[in-house]
Amino acid sequence: MSLITYLTTVRFEAGALSGLGNDLNELGMKAPLIVADRGIERAGLLDRLRDALPDGRGMATFLDTPPNPTESAVLAALTVFRSQGCDGLIAIGGGSAIDLGKGVALLANHPGPLAQYAAILGGIPKITAAVAPLIAIPTTAGTGSEVGRAALISLDDGRKLGFISPHLIPKRAICDPDLTLGLPASLTAATGMDAITHCIETYLSPRYNPPAEAIALDGLVRAIGSIERAVADGSDREARREMMMAALEGGLTFQKGLGAVHALSHPLGGLKQVSLHHGTLNAVLLPHCLTFNESHCAQKYAVIRQRLGLAAGHDLAAHFQALNTRLAMPSTLSEMGVPPDCLSRIAEAATADHSSATNPRPADRDAYLAILKSAF
Ligand SMILES: [Zn+2]
Repeated sequence: MSLITYLTTVRFEAGALSGLGNDLNELGMKAPLIVADRGIERAGLLDRLRDALPDGRGMATFLDTPPNPTESAVLAALTVFRSQGCDGLIAIGGGSAIDLGKGVALLANHPGPLAQYAAILGGIPKITAAVAPLIAIPTTAGTGSEVGRAALISLDDGRKLGFISPHLIPKRAICDPDLTLGLPASLTAATGMDAITHCIETYLSPRYNPPAEAIALDGLVRAIGSIERAVADGSDREARREMMMAALEGGLTFQKGLGAVHALSHPLGGLKQVSLHHGTLNAVLLPHCLTFNESHCAQKYAVIRQRLGLAAGHDLAAHFQALNTRLAMPSTLSEMGVPPDCLSRIAEAATADHSSATNPRPADRDAYLAILKSAF
């Protein structure tokens, strides 16, 4: 069976943030908890958000979102949510803030512990419509979490697990490309490579979902046509708009499943001894996973080449490696600071990740270890 679902109401335009008051009223949200991080505050985006809120709302704020969301941060934000009598959430930021918001929205009306709701632990049917309403406002163009049904959260025991349910999809996504104008070049590149990886992995997923494939290819073409311009000139509003749309489209296609890149980047992102950016990990891993999958995706690789205007038989792995170089991404995992002694543990964890099942070429522990070594 193919489960094909498109649910989120998205408001997409430059300046869309100014309509936030209407969204709150339509959702009946009277006391939202704002979830963000200190960088959002420093960038002045929190003030812009508050300016868009009706009087008296938006006083409850949680700013301690870590770079990779954790169970303890979810519980800390939940304490604020309860003590302030909140009835919903506004998550503004990158994927971390939005995923953290999803975790709080879940536990606001579902008993703990959090782990019981993880997808690989059989938690999907335990997540009900009682999830608190969430408005997602992305300030990067990468994660797609604003329209995705998944939250990636590191448990206190170190496992980075996916929490997946249609009930976790934000009730509203406000996609305002102007909010990304101040994003530094390095983050524009890293988050943009995350969006590109979402489009490629969901397109290559073997599940039957032609609408998702069409959206993924459209997102890929938009992102490839814009990422270098957005990185070179952060004030290029057309490039920012196209990158935000590509990220949104990548997120819409998550339902088709991701693949080996994310199966590996999820456990790598959960490492406690080093904080690794999700998009940068994906950028480094993508060429190696493209090489691994090639024998099982000849037709789809031909379509990607054609859509990107590349010659027949062009080496896609080399193409994306060259793109990484032009974007000043690191070229290896060791350059990122991945410790060599974790590789076999990461390979094992990748086989258990929820994204592994939809990689086009079945991958076992040895296959993941070989990919890690080639990317190291
Ligand atoms: Zn991702």
